[in-house]
Amino acid sequence: MTGRYAVFGTPIAHSQSPRIHAMFARQAGIALDYVAIEAGHDDFAAKLAASGVAGANVTLPLKEDAFALCAGNVSARARRAGAVNTLLRDNEGWRGDNTDGPGLVRDLTERHGLDLRERRVLLLGAGGAARGVAPALLDAGIHSLYVVNRNSARADALADAMGEPGRVHARGWDALPALGEFDLLINATSAARSGALPPLPMGLASLRSAAVDLSYGEAAVAFLAWARAAGCTHAVDGLGMLVEQAAESFLLWHGLRPETDGVYAALSGQGDALVTAD
Ligand code: NDP
Repeated sequence: MTGRYAVFGTPIAHSQSPRIHAMFARQAGIALDYVAIEAGHDDFAAKLAASGVAGANVTLPLKEDAFALCAGNVSARARRAGAVNTLLRDNEGWRGDNTDGPGLVRDLTERHGLDLRERRVLLLGAGGAARGVAPALLDAGIHSLYVVNRNSARADALADAMGEPGRVHARGWDALPALGEFDLLINATSAARSGALPPLPMGLASLRSAAVDLSYGEAAVAFLAWARAAGCTHAVDGLGMLVEQAAESFLLWHGLRPETDGVYAALSGQGDALVTAD
């Protein structure tokens, strides 16, 4: 088996996806050509068409563009998220899926041993990553989800899209001091890249809380340091999610679920050298 695959986004030069998929392919005995292609809103469709790929991953800022490009030919989870991170070819053209949510849930439950059932969850951010993980968290049985975003209209839109008004609540940052304690706190903002995360009240977390930053490397340092200072027992970055969402894409393309622990260990060894988004 062989094939050409790619990840599209901006910036993309430091993406770990080519390395992760190369490790999966070696494991599976597949001859795979997986490259990173720089593309923005204006040239994504043309570059995708010219690339000749059989499948693709899509990252910041193109997940909503990819959703639109599939013209309704999307999985239920991608439809709920309104965002696509994995493209597959089928008889109708491009089919879109979203593996970010299953990737996060698998990392938290299987790698880090967290039980998500009946948990009160805070989701900071309402961009593409937040939209991808929210449906999977709800499906994993959490009790309630508070979506807090700088632009509160985007938080409202995400909450509305989930269609569960009793479980999903939208708030602005100014509401944080009044929200009480959470079992799980997720940083799905890109604040570390575009300045700094606004201050977070210590009362959001306790010794029973777990925290995860969807970023990794340097971008995750500030939020995870806050989480440890606030007493969180678990404070994990997004590297495990990155590997798990990639494994889920690999499964969709090749029908095989790769073993992820060795790949996660290989990437973890790089520590702060990892700075990019996927
Ligand atoms: P988007 O650009 O779609 O969304 C960015 C979000 O961050 C928005 O909610 C935005 O708020 C918020 N934000 C940005 N700057 C600030 C700030 N200074 N203060 C407060 N909020 C801010 O990005 P994505 O959702 O695609 O990505 C978010 C993060 O998740 C990135 O760091 C990315 O690397 C990571 N990620 C990790 C993955 C993994 O596999 N580990 C997969 C996907 C993403 P507003 O709406 O107000 O602008």
